Amino acid sequence: MFKETIFSKIINREISVDLVYQDELVTAFRDIEPKAAIHILIIPNTFIPTINHVKSIHEKILGRMITVAAKIAYDEGISKDGYRLIMNCNRHSGQEVYHIHMHLLGGQPLGPLLSI
Ligand code: AMP
Repeated sequence: MFKETIFSKIINREISVDLVYQDELVTAFRDIEPKAAIHILIIPNTFIPTINHVKSIHEKILGRMITVAAKIAYDEGISKDGYRLIMNCNRHSGQEVYHIHMHLLGGQPLGPLLSI
């Protein structure tokens, strides 16, 4: 049901993005439509369509996503002021790309968590 997305092409360097970080487990790049002064996506190099598809074998990858988020936040100079990490799952969250990804948002006050 779920097919690989444009994010697979980004991981494989088949389309160009503003790449921030890549290792054997994860890739990070700047969001094409930034919602904050700093908006970076951190994605697993493995195709996992939604958080509902996460299994225990993915725990190392998911841990790396967090440690890389913290490293990028430090490198971007926003560790001290703070930032927000968001992962959307399915329709009610507004997930658009069905390859799990973590939004790293910061560089400005971010306001309330939700504005429904
Ligand atoms: P989500 O709504 O959580 O699925 O977020 C998907 C994010 O991917 C959105 O913020 C998009 O702006 C971003 N996005 C989609 N295509 C690209 C791309 N080619 N390069 C960078 N960001 C992208």
